Amino acid sequence: MKIILLGAPGAGKGTVAKLLSAFDGSVQISTGDILRAAVRERSDLGKKAKEYMDKGDLVPDSLIMKIMEERLREPDCEKGFILDGFPRTIPQAEDLKMLLEKLNVQLDLVINLDVPKEVILDRLTTRRTCSNPDCQAIYNIKSNPPTPDGKCTICGSPVIQRDDETEEAITNRLETYNEKTAPLIGFYGTEGLLRNIFSLNSKETVEEIKESLKLKV
Ligand code: ADP
Ligand code: ZN
Repeated sequence: MKIILLGAPGAGKGTVAKLLSAFDGSVQISTGDILRAAVRERSDLGKKAKEYMDKGDLVPDSLIMKIMEERLREPDCEKGFILDGFPRTIPQAEDLKMLLEKLNVQLDLVINLDVPKEVILDRLTTRRTCSNPDCQAIYNIKSNPPTPDGKCTICGSPVIQRDDETEEAITNRLETYNEKTAPLIGFYGTEGLLRNIFSLNSKETVEEIKESLKLKV
């Protein structure tokens, strides 16, 4: 499959992308994961991106497009890809359209994960992440807690709150989403690629996406 997942921070894009990737081997491409890896490695990209990310601001489009052009040219994308967290702005969507034309790649669908605002806020403030870069398991202190002493149940590393998961950064991320990313719903609606899915449960959402893809063929 060649799809884009849209949705607010905390809508469950990452979880849905992982399930879809396990289903048919399409690669999950998360710009957030790529940027966090760059920050950990203290690469030039990481140094540039960190100040934006910690505040919950978007990283400049030019940096993101450079990353994505390189990534989409990798041979593992030929089978299929699930874009998670990209595009995030109208200019990114326009550049992506040109890039895909250049690479002669056709998108199947753009899926918007529609999740109520209260659910999003609750999830973001209770979310915790495994600090082990190779694991990055996601927990929720209410619905899916780590061990009682705060360790990852998979790898045993400490589970932490991301720098951009302070209340201030979360508020900023949601405002940025509404202002810069929500307009993509209209953009892809006009392109005739959009499917809106009311999503509270990742597994059910994955089944709905598979159905939409079948209907498409
Ligand atoms: P979330 O969707 O939960 O906000 P992500 O992991 O997708 O988290 O992104 C984390 C941060 O990385 C964003 O707040 C932003 O600073 C940066 N980022 C990720 N993807 C993009 C993108 N496509 N364009 C600009 N910045 C991005
Ligand atoms: Zn872990």
